[in-house]
Amino acid sequence: MRAARFYGPGRPLVIEDVPRPRPGPGEVVVKVKAAGVCHTELHFLEGVLNLGVVPVTLGHEIAGVVEEVGPGVEEPKPGDRVLVYYYVGCGKCRFCLRGEENLCESPRAEYGFITDGGYAEYIKVPARNAVRLPDNITFEQAAPIGCSVTTAIHATRRARPEVGEYVAVYGVGAVGFALIQYNKLIGAKVIAIGRSERKLQLAEELGADYVINARSEDVVERALEITDGRGVDVVYELVGIRETMDNSLRMLAKRGRLVLIGYWRDKLEANPLDLVVKEATITASVGNTLEELVEAVRLVSEGKVKVVVDRVAGLGEINNELERLRRGEVVGRVVINPEI
Ligand SMILES: [Zn+2]
Ligand SMILES: [Zn+2]
Repeated sequence: MRAARFYGPGRPLVIEDVPRPRPGPGEVVVKVKAAGVCHTELHFLEGVLNLGVVPVTLGHEIAGVVEEVGPGVEEPKPGDRVLVYYYVGCGKCRFCLRGEENLCESPRAEYGFITDGGYAEYIKVPARNAVRLPDNITFEQAAPIGCSVTTAIHATRRARPEVGEYVAVYGVGAVGFALIQYNKLIGAKVIAIGRSERKLQLAEELGADYVINARSEDVVERALEITDGRGVDVVYELVGIRETMDNSLRMLAKRGRLVLIGYWRDKLEANPLDLVVKEATITASVGNTLEELVEAVRLVSEGKVKVVVDRVAGLGEINNELERLRRGEVVGRVVINPEI
């Protein structure tokens, strides 16, 4: 079967033939119908994220149809439409015991990170990692749920915004769009911050109460103006460069929470006093739990969160699409269909 594989930083993904996986006991093989292209892929290519496993098939937002099941698997069944949960924890560590496989101390698999992922015609996963999809969600909509909507739910739970609090979503990519909608559902007042008029307009359509264009406005000044000088209670930082981290710290309200999600090469710099007088908190969010993925599927199925798909591309277009993503041209998610 064909797969798009990562061979190391600075090199394009290579489309090559690899053996088609066969299911072992308790496993299923999923025929991939859609795989989302996440910013994390750029972190691999730039060498910002180095997990030391090469070659590896990237792609961690994976939707498809169960093709084959191994011995002992009752659910799901061949023909079922599923979304893949990309963590397989050890099942024994203190985090796995709490259902927090995203923090597992010795993960058995992490698809598209240390284990072959979804930029391939087929993928093999444990049966419990293949979550049934309702019929009203297409594969193209489903794939980006696997990282973007789930990350939004997890990050929001890290910050615990209250009804009426101001939250800023700093970065209007796919995770940002999901954060805007999820925080509106919770009852927060949402400020979206970005640099693209088109993406900010979409942010407004998805429910953002205010938008700030960082190209033309002073972000901190504007955030303080919107909040009558109080500052922003929760900032979701999806960019992770010096300018956005500095601005995020400066716009925080007293008892504010800064949630780091995006990252690049820049360092976070803060004087303790920046936090002390505000009793502010810096926290972070990585991945999601299986329960959060099930919740994300429910929210999309009920129409409460919309998934923004830029376009569907073939496996052979993956490097072009990564380049478009790097240039900031992608609105929402590009989804790869390995059958094209
Ligand atoms: Zn991702
Ligand atoms: Zn574990």
